[in-house]
Amino acid sequence: MNCKDIKQMFFVYIDGELEAEKERIVVDHIASCEKCRVQLYEYKRSWEMLGTLEPIEPTPGYISRFWTALSYRLPWYEKILEGIRNLFLPRRVVYRVALALIVLIAVYVSVDKYTNVLRTRTLLVNMSEEEWEVVENYDLIANLDLLESLKGIENIKL
Ligand SMILES: [Zn+2]
Repeated sequence: MNCKDIKQMFFVYIDGELEAEKERIVVDHIASCEKCRVQLYEYKRSWEMLGTLEPIEPTPGYISRFWTALSYRLPWYEKILEGIRNLFLPRRVVYRVALALIVLIAVYVSVDKYTNVLRTRTLLVNMSEEEWEVVENYDLIANLDLLESLKGIENIKL
């Protein structure tokens, strides 16, 4: 193991949580490596210093205040709008552009639906009487297989 590998184990070693085998490797290494020995000493000192600090508990209600503050933040699309607004457009124009886009989409969708209705209507008008009969007897046609099988039963002589 090189110095980098050893250093990665330092904090666990200081905490006394290192597996015996790895601990021996660290001990062996620092015995022969001046640089790592110094570094470990530094780590130990700052670690012990951290240990003497009072643990900081969040004040009551901190968590709920945090989430409330977060929920008041702007949603992502508002942020984008805000960005565009701040870039070059006055607020009114941005909303007008957004509205225009919505209207455009609505028009596109309804035109599409309308042409579908027209297409269906044209189809219905141009249908022959025979075709109409087919449509009217659709239920029967759908059950044709069943009817066929019934016919077979009909032919069975008792
Ligand atoms: Zn080393």
